[in-house]
Amino acid sequence: MANTTATILDGNKIAAQIKAEMAEQVQELAAAGLRPGLAVILVGEDPASAIYVRGKVKACEQLGIHSVELKPPASVTTEELVRTVETLNARDEIDGILVQLPLPSHVDSQKVLLTVAPEKDVDGFHPLNVGYLSTQRPGLVPCTPAGVIEILRRSKIPMEGRNAVVIGRSDIVGKPVAMLLLHNNATVTICHSKTRNLPEVARQADILVAAIGRPGFVTPDWVKPGATVIDVGINRVTDRNLFDKLFAGDAAREKSFTEKGSTLVGDVHPEAADVAGAITPVPGGVGPLTIAMLMANTIKACRMRRGRR
Ligand code: NAD
Repeated sequence: MANTTATILDGNKIAAQIKAEMAEQVQELAAAGLRPGLAVILVGEDPASAIYVRGKVKACEQLGIHSVELKPPASVTTEELVRTVETLNARDEIDGILVQLPLPSHVDSQKVLLTVAPEKDVDGFHPLNVGYLSTQRPGLVPCTPAGVIEILRRSKIPMEGRNAVVIGRSDIVGKPVAMLLLHNNATVTICHSKTRNLPEVARQADILVAAIGRPGFVTPDWVKPGATVIDVGINRVTDRNLFDKLFAGDAAREKSFTEKGSTLVGDVHPEAADVAGAITPVPGGVGPLTIAMLMANTIKACRMRRGRR
């Protein structure tokens, strides 16, 4: 069991701070007769996606953001989804459009995502927003990477001049998080499945970001003593052997694993907390920030579209 020495970076607490700030902004907009609106498209019956969408809609309700949930069946075609997005693009009370991924395999996801108007693209996936991010122009930044930066910033972890190593190069997490760290003047290394000597590269990091999708992949020996570790991974573990490798001796986890038959683990081995200076837990680390930043993006999109920066 981890004999934690690291500061635990509490994502729930930071997300609550951000949401409180956003609730104030919603009030301010309301005084000007404006109400930000978010539309979420949830295709089919995937239980994990339904949980994520419920969390997003609930956050809208808490903050006073108008939300619309559209639930086409899993049999929906690409063309039908494109038309749905086009209709939302044209609706003035909708400031943000989110297409919950993954879409069914017969749907052309890229085509659907490209249909979202860039000014309503609260996920920040549209190439125009990707371009704005890379050239540091005002635009909509992907929520999870923006959340990673908020954790660092609000926890007063310096980025300037520090070595940041990002493991993972996806368009959704790895690349944008690397870009944001660069804009905060970190010296950034991006690693991926073809990187040589990964543990050695990771050990150079003052800030280590793991966005891989492999439970407990980053072991304590990859972490420089005192480094800040941001664990983006969310993996559901159901295998008893793997559970024992990750959580042996952790009574609280053992109890919940026995009750539920599964537990959530990040991409970082829990014992990395014995070496790191600060670390995000899973659950309760980066995850809550993703929703908070979605709220922030919806408000930002509202302000940008309606000329209230
Ligand atoms: P992805 O599958 O698109 O990308 C994974 C990346 O990891 C790839 O770039 C790949 O090169 C790299 N990788 C894979 N195997 C590797 C290896 N053996 N060595 C080094 N690099 C390797 O995944 P993603 O969408 O970027 O998500 C990554 C993780 O973050 C997942 O666990 C996902 O569930 C989680 N996630 C969490 C949130 C959140 O809100 N906290 C949001 C998005 C994604």
